[in-house]
Amino acid sequence: MNDCLFCRIAAGEIPSSTLYEDEDLRVILDINPTSVGHALILPKDHASSLLDYPASKLGHVFEVAQKVGQAMQQSLGCEGINVVANCGEVAGQTVDHFHVHVIPRYQDKTKDRFVLEHGSIDPVDFNQIVQTLQEGLKND
Ligand code: 5GP
Ligand code: ZN
Repeated sequence: MNDCLFCRIAAGEIPSSTLYEDEDLRVILDINPTSVGHALILPKDHASSLLDYPASKLGHVFEVAQKVGQAMQQSLGCEGINVVANCGEVAGQTVDHFHVHVIPRYQDKTKDRFVLEHGSIDPVDFNQIVQTLQEGLKND
């Protein structure tokens, strides 16, 4: 038996508050939401994270993220959304099954905003990282 929690939810073996479902995906409400309406897109096929999910299927995941975000705007009245996929424990991933968070954001709840901390970088290091990543992207 597959003991992956999100495989079981995506397959319908564990009941969930399903907002949308198709052949490849199930969209559910997060059980510990960051904001009202916080949804999760779960692929039905297991992959540990976005990094090992088939690239050919990613377009559909983001089409559905758009659809969910539009519905949130229209029916919940949020002013913005965050679309987030945590990949790896160090990045905050707690469930080892690829999922995409769609998090509605409301103007009157600015303290709940998803804020990235920004630093600064030496121009030499900046150029070195550009080169390193350009090389890495060639190796695919
Ligand atoms: P991660 O931290 O891995 O990016 O996100 C996992 C998310 O799954 C969390 O936001 C957490 O609240 C949610 N979650 C964990 N277990 C369950 C569950 O059994 N049902 C639902 N609906 N959400 C869950
Ligand atoms: Zn799984």
